[in-house]
Amino acid sequence: MKKYKLPIIMLTVFETVAVILWLILDNIFYLFNFSYIGLAIALGIFLFGQQYRYARRVTQLLVGMYMLVYLGIIRNENMQIEGFWYYLFTGVFEATTIHYAVAKIFGPLIFGRGWCGYACWTAMVLDFLPYKIPQKPRKKWDWIRYIVFVFSLILVATLFLLQAKDKEKIMFWLFIIGNILYYAVGIVLAFVLKDNRAFCKYICPITVFLKPMSYFSLLRVKCDKEKCVSCGKCKKVCPMEVDVTDNSRKRKNATECILCFECVKNCPRKAL
Ligand code: SF4
Ligand code: SF4
Ligand code: SF4
Repeated sequence: MKKYKLPIIMLTVFETVAVILWLILDNIFYLFNFSYIGLAIALGIFLFGQQYRYARRVTQLLVGMYMLVYLGIIRNENMQIEGFWYYLFTGVFEATTIHYAVAKIFGPLIFGRGWCGYACWTAMVLDFLPYKIPQKPRKKWDWIRYIVFVFSLILVATLFLLQAKDKEKIMFWLFIIGNILYYAVGIVLAFVLKDNRAFCKYICPITVFLKPMSYFSLLRVKCDKEKCVSCGKCKKVCPMEVDVTDNSRKRKNATECILCFECVKNCPRKAL
């Protein structure tokens, strides 16, 4: 039963959100949307329990493609941070604002940066690149994300201040151009810094929400000090350079953990 516990918990969390939003907003789309995402996540966790090597990638592709192609391109929902500002300014508590509330603002209190490990369509592509383990020391470039964050806010605020016509259409094109830019910058940075997740570490504006909220995450990788022999393998395989042997919330790069469980898979003592 143990191997079904976590998938069932995650499915229950998402199904609860799906039913609540469906009933409150009287829109069956939310039942379909969150049930699908919950099922994809539960499947990934279950496959991980079965030691399937690509378990996380299955979920990442199922959710990432759904968000990018179906919600973003077919349904014209700008799910990027500009879309969040846009719907916030229009006062509409609809798909993108709900998505941010669940996946990126309040959800991380429960599942940390699970979004980054299992759902993000930017990382879905970056994770195919060859530098799964960073091959250069981390730079002190974290400040860039705050500039991108403020820029996205100013960009959308300007649309409202200038009373731009056809804002919906502009938001659609911002989504397309924004994604192309993110992929281009992410891929170039990954090759230059020899680190697939360099974009996540330095550029991504979503981390301005994700990092402080995931500090309090219920779901965390913990180290059993009795079993640990300080071999350092967990640190070597971590794409986000987290010091996972330190159980305190203040551990090095604590809010960078994307719950990929590479450290867990590679620990020879099953201490994680
Ligand atoms: S840090 Fe940003 S780009 Fe990276 S996985 Fe998270 S949301 Fe996606
Ligand atoms: S891989 Fe396991 S045994 Fe080695 S340092 Fe990490 S937790 Fe300890
Ligand atoms: S390897 Fe471990 S510590 Fe590093 S991001 Fe993945 S789950 Fe978190």
